Amino acid sequence: MRTIEKISDLKAIIKSQKVSGKSIGFVPTMGYLHEGHLSLVKHAADENDFVVMSIFVNPTQFGPNEDLDKYPRNLDGDMQLAEQAGVDVIFLPKVSEMYPEGYKTYISVEKITERLCGKSRPGHFRGVATVVCKLFNIVEPDKAYFGEKDAQQVVVIKQMVRDLNMGLEIVPCPIVREADGLALSSRNTYLTKGQRNSALVLSTSLFHARDMIKNGERRVNAILDYLKKNISSEEAANIDYIEIVDADTLEPLNVVEKRVLIALAVKFGTTRLIDNVIVEV
Ligand code: AMP
Repeated sequence: MRTIEKISDLKAIIKSQKVSGKSIGFVPTMGYLHEGHLSLVKHAADENDFVVMSIFVNPTQFGPNEDLDKYPRNLDGDMQLAEQAGVDVIFLPKVSEMYPEGYKTYISVEKITERLCGKSRPGHFRGVATVVCKLFNIVEPDKAYFGEKDAQQVVVIKQMVRDLNMGLEIVPCPIVREADGLALSSRNTYLTKGQRNSALVLSTSLFHARDMIKNGERRVNAILDYLKKNISSEEAANIDYIEIVDADTLEPLNVVEKRVLIALAVKFGTTRLIDNVIVEV
């Protein structure tokens, strides 16, 4: 596995892979890798000749009062895990490499970025779309792999790719969970033992909501009532949002039909966790 910090060096490697006809799979991350990230690498390695992973804690997607400065990092551990999982090149740009002095261009995907996480994190998806667009231009992947853990991110990136005629495929990959149901997240490391225990209410409630739909419930309000009640019964839980929306357009729904996304963000202390399930009827 090669470690690259400069955009020009990565572009040269990509060019030589393309000349020899290799397909390129790309996994963008912010590091502090766990099995969720590694599952994306496995998909990428299965479907491509050459796998590039980026690790970049992107400042433009963090709000002023968010956790940019304390975002967890473990570069040595990450490099080992990435290599074992089948990454060929790991791209670790400095902030000044991605956003040199005088940087002025941002990508703003409209409407769908105003709901769900976009509502509580203004500017977040502008930062995400911008950095992902830049990374796509640098890596020129055939396919890029994103976790359904960040379901809104998948919808936003797909929209950007469609709108800007980018010639790559976005591959969504299922959420990887701990054995007890907690969705893996780099931010889980912030949780105290008690908060981690309380956070199990998220997956158990989402799974129960999915069962309600499987058993015939179609009223969005009835499902939301259950979720709000059950999650707020956990004292440590502070609900940011719980919503049931069309999984493809993120439009709010009154009645469950087709593919719905049940998505939530809940704070435990200062740690904001997100989780979701997609249910097809
Ligand atoms: P992050 O490092 O948090 O920006 O995540 C990088 C990529 O890994 C994103 O596409 C995430 O959706 C994905 N990811 C994070 N956690 C999980 C998980 N538990 N299961 C599947 N994918 C995940």
